[in-house]
Amino acid sequence: MAIACPDCGEDQSIPVLVENTVAECRRCGRLLDQFNESGLSVALAWSWASLLLLLPANLLPLMQVSIGHDRRAGYISSGVHALVAEHWPLLALMFAAFTIVFPFLYVGLITTVLTTLHLGYRPKWVGRLFRYAHQIRLWAMPDVLVLAGMVVFMRTQVQMQSHIEAGGWCLISASVLLILMPHSFAGHRVWRLIAPDLPEPRNESSLSCDVCNLILPLSMEQKRCPRCRRRLYLRKPNALNRTAALVAASYVLYFPAYYYPMSTTVQPNGVQQYTIMQGIRQLVNAGYWELAVIIFTASVLIPMLKLIGLSWLYMSVRYPSNRALVLRTHLARIIHRIGRWSNTDPFIAALMVPMISFHGIANVHLGKAALPFALVVTLTMLASRSFDTRLMWDAAEARS
Ligand SMILES: [Zn+2]
Ligand SMILES: [Zn+2]
Repeated sequence: MAIACPDCGEDQSIPVLVENTVAECRRCGRLLDQFNESGLSVALAWSWASLLLLLPANLLPLMQVSIGHDRRAGYISSGVHALVAEHWPLLALMFAAFTIVFPFLYVGLITTVLTTLHLGYRPKWVGRLFRYAHQIRLWAMPDVLVLAGMVVFMRTQVQMQSHIEAGGWCLISASVLLILMPHSFAGHRVWRLIAPDLPEPRNESSLSCDVCNLILPLSMEQKRCPRCRRRLYLRKPNALNRTAALVAASYVLYFPAYYYPMSTTVQPNGVQQYTIMQGIRQLVNAGYWELAVIIFTASVLIPMLKLIGLSWLYMSVRYPSNRALVLRTHLARIIHRIGRWSNTDPFIAALMVPMISFHGIANVHLGKAALPFALVVTLTMLASRSFDTRLMWDAAEARS
């Protein structure tokens, strides 16, 4: 059956796969489909397990920090409360969305879709729900929260006693399942179960749905995809202008994000303000090399790579060339996937503020950099989402 590569737009037909085989795009190398032995029943069991684990992860404390007999328990929700109390409502909203709302929504949608298919039903709405799950997957960030929590855990151990609590273990388990789960239904299988692929239209140009990769006649443009109900366009509308605007806004916010302090600590020996770079230097000085490398990668390297990379991708459509097309397509995929990990630093701050609140001994407050930094992360994620890699291939083709 025919399928269109979502990254380079090449129409190609792939056979039904047998054990230990994958189908990759013949032009750009993107994984199009893969055979999975374990089947959907495993994915279904995992999605139910992660849904059930998310509940205690949200209701029970993630960790506990104590100085002497004075204890503070940290919940996911205490991060939201602390951000509101520190007068950062937008940050509180983003933190709640990424760590509570979207994880529940994503797992809930996947579980509903897989359960429905498993029971043998194919209702009309199931394609739409699977599309929503596909679209919010990168915005559900329990795994990023786990990384932030681990950094907080190691940092607090310097001066205090800290323990991971039941909620923390549930969050870690749910995140591991969520990282592994897409592999069990990767590729194209669920879409084919929802509705089969169609043969490539004859005597007419075609377009493909950029979510479920269904190939349809070009006359369907601006109508809804029959499988996932996504509005169909030959290429994402206004992709270049939207990407340029989002990248430009990110450049503007990039400077305050690194210039202002990310956090302020109040201790008996004085008030210390830490910018992102000063925070990393402090970790190096304290001998926490591994943490310094993690934070440097998530907070400095990835945002820089994203901004430079997105600018390069944009320019390569404006000034097309055939060189390194596959490499550029790979780069776009990497940027799209890794961007979310930059939220580690804002999440660390959101977890530290409510827990490190020992009056007169140690207090942590959020600095001015937190909002611009979190906005840079979100805007560049939106930019990579609105960019259409197929435009680079079109431009190169038109030139040659
Ligand atoms: Zn391709
Ligand atoms: Zn579709």
